[in-house]
Amino acid sequence: MSISTNYLSGIMPDSGQNDEKISAHVAIVGSGPTGCFAALAMLKCIPEVRITVFEARPAPYGLLRYGVAPDHQGMKNVTRQFERLFGSNQVEFVGNVRIGQDLPFEVLQENFDFVVIATGLPSERALPVPVHPGAKIWGASQLLRYLNADPDSDLRTKETVELGDSVLIIGSGNVAMDVARLLAKSDEGFDGSDVDDAAREALAPSKITRITLLSRSPYEQVRWDPSMFKELCSIPGVEVYLDGRRSTERTDTFSGPTRHQRLRVEVFFNQKLREIDLQEDNAYANQITVRTQNGTSDAHLSAESPKTSFRASAVITAIGFEERRIGFGEVPADNVFRAGGCATGRLGNLAENRALAKQTAQLVAAKVGKQSKLTGLAGVAPFLAQTPVSFSDWKAIDEAEVTRARPGRIRQKFTSWSEMSDVVAQTRS
Ligand SMILES: Cc1cc2nc3c(=O)[nH]c(=O)nc-3n(C[C@H](O)[C@H](O)[C@H](O)COP(=O)(O)OP(=O)(O)OC[C@H]3O[C@@H](n4cnc5c(N)ncnc54)[C@H](O)[C@@H]3O)c2cc1C
Repeated sequence: MSISTNYLSGIMPDSGQNDEKISAHVAIVGSGPTGCFAALAMLKCIPEVRITVFEARPAPYGLLRYGVAPDHQGMKNVTRQFERLFGSNQVEFVGNVRIGQDLPFEVLQENFDFVVIATGLPSERALPVPVHPGAKIWGASQLLRYLNADPDSDLRTKETVELGDSVLIIGSGNVAMDVARLLAKSDEGFDGSDVDDAAREALAPSKITRITLLSRSPYEQVRWDPSMFKELCSIPGVEVYLDGRRSTERTDTFSGPTRHQRLRVEVFFNQKLREIDLQEDNAYANQITVRTQNGTSDAHLSAESPKTSFRASAVITAIGFEERRIGFGEVPADNVFRAGGCATGRLGNLAENRALAKQTAQLVAAKVGKQSKLTGLAGVAPFLAQTPVSFSDWKAIDEAEVTRARPGRIRQKFTSWSEMSDVVAQTRS
């Protein structure tokens, strides 16, 4: 990802006027929810702290902007708290600076009293079975990034992303529910959202007649929230079947036009994935075959366990995220902390990451002395090869996205970094 910034004026690091009062300079790497929650907690528990939040992308908020479902705006509203955070004169947003690439981690360590790494968990877990290289298989967050208008989404560069008539989702947690719901809803279901309409159109969800979810666990241990399941069942025109039996779960959450094609959503439990292949039968050209074995646990599976084959035109995996080497901050040090998914190896939800961020803030607070001898952001500014995106730059991008929203949408996100760069340049000129 790159944004042209050579014409952008610099952000204003702490002027140093009140340096004698500063207790600690803290750098946070990553402006996702965990980094922002950590900054909020530190403002409360560390008097006279100065915090700089470094973000690799020009836009803040991590998966809150590019992962969380675009029709769940209530969840995204937590950004209002974060806006107030960046309004504080104790906190600076430094966007478009990837630590370890645009700025060496060691420079942060030398200039800040403490560094908190909150880079999340960016890699989707790979399927642990043989997969045909020609099969159309995407990760759930790949799909969500596309629908959330992420400029770095690789789906935007593909010739065709149409999903076909039958989508199979591997997994049965809340992210799997998000995928099923987003593909099941008709256009009206996105009123008040900031979905990327061009991406939705390219995926052609209205042509889908069947969505199948494969759950590894039995029904009793399913990981979706009941409210998420209810929401899916309440979409007009959608019929949900659990192991072949029609679900009676319905609420009045949605009313309005039924999608023009009826959609059957089937969930199968106790499905141990074995293989993903392309159907060789010419009648089903480009159809994917997903083979499973049925059993409640590995201990109960044998060569004789019943096998099932599912057919689909596209497969979406929603089986979680895994740790990947961040490439810096690996050596234990007294002044370096990790928070959120990059510390626990589990992405977690917002509430969990808020709690983890608070714990990290308290660990930092316990080590803060009376007065910092370092210079924080002012000390690293000379090392920045490119001019960062400040929070007021981001607010200009934000405002432009809201202004250009089409009817029924709350914003239309820019799908390229260069468009954002243009807005910033215009605002500054
Ligand atoms: C599809 C999907 C749907 C979800 N829906 C919900 C939901 O409905 N409710 C809920 O509670 N949770 C939901 N979650 C989980 C939620 O998104 C996470 O709990 C949260 O985003 C984790 O926050 P984080 O800050 O740890 O990581 P992220 O949100 O991933 O943020 C990490 C940030 O660090 C930045 N970064 C990475 N490396 C560097 C570097 N070297 N230098 C500078 N910056 C860097 C990244 O650009 C990013 O902005 C969902 C997750 C997904 C994937």
